[in-house]
Amino acid sequence: MKNCQNIIERIYSDLKDIKDDGKVANYIPELGTISPNNFGAHITTAKKESFGIGDYDKKFSIQSISKILSLTLAYHLEGENLWKRVDVEPSGNAFNSLQQLDDDCGIPRNPFINAGAIVICDVLVTHLENPKDDFLKFCREIANNQTLEYCKKVAASERETGYRNFALCNFIKSFGNIKNDVEDVLDFYFHICALEMSCKELSEIFLYLTEDVKITYKEKEILNKNEAKRINAIMLTCGFYDEAGEFAFKVGLPGKSGVGGGIIAVQPNEYCIAVWSPKLNKKGNSYKGMLFLEEFTTATTSSIF
Ligand code: GLU
Repeated sequence: MKNCQNIIERIYSDLKDIKDDGKVANYIPELGTISPNNFGAHITTAKKESFGIGDYDKKFSIQSISKILSLTLAYHLEGENLWKRVDVEPSGNAFNSLQQLDDDCGIPRNPFINAGAIVICDVLVTHLENPKDDFLKFCREIANNQTLEYCKKVAASERETGYRNFALCNFIKSFGNIKNDVEDVLDFYFHICALEMSCKELSEIFLYLTEDVKITYKEKEILNKNEAKRINAIMLTCGFYDEAGEFAFKVGLPGKSGVGGGIIAVQPNEYCIAVWSPKLNKKGNSYKGMLFLEEFTTATTSSIF
């Protein structure tokens, strides 16, 4: 990519010291212990060029970004039947809302809100022999990176305060859309949210969502082109809580954020970018991360629109 390193250096220095840039999430107490000053970004292109700035090599809690990985594995294992269990519509509600489930008979609006991600975890608990170990093996294999790990402290911290996720899982189970034990499903959910990766690792692992990169799991392609297109579409419409429209409007790429302050975005013909800055805006997305990506797609004219 032309001038990419210069562009990210300029954006980084423009944004590095801005004030009034949101709050670190602390409803999961362990996340609140992270230094708010961390800030980094990394781009990996489909041609394997690599560009980084700031704290791009530091691992952090990827939280909801892991929902792309769990969705990918569930789709790989379950095929189109998956969409009987979870819908593909933006919710327009907060990520941990219970509101629509009653009217929708326990079918979550999409796989990226907590309700949907918990149903995806239930699908995986049914398929996998040792869900936590097998999911980690899947991530390590597709990333070709044996260093990936869960942070047990973050998973335990979320479990202790996970009242809403327990409520969601029990409520969905009352409609019959959770097949396994609630404790098992949530233990798995809390662990996948506690996966730790750096911006560099994130921008590498999600290259399978770009056009020309083929990644296999147990010698089978993880997603065909059509399936990758569908995951990108859900990321574009549902990847940013109730700020997905704003992200499409300003950045114009499929993406997904997490309350750890990370965001990944995919240019389906070209590259994957990850940014990290722990302070979140009012909608729960990284404050500086959103600004960084907006400036990046503008400077590189690489939005999909
Ligand atoms: N583990 C977090 C939760 O369930 C994930 C939230 C997020 O990153 O959107 O609250």
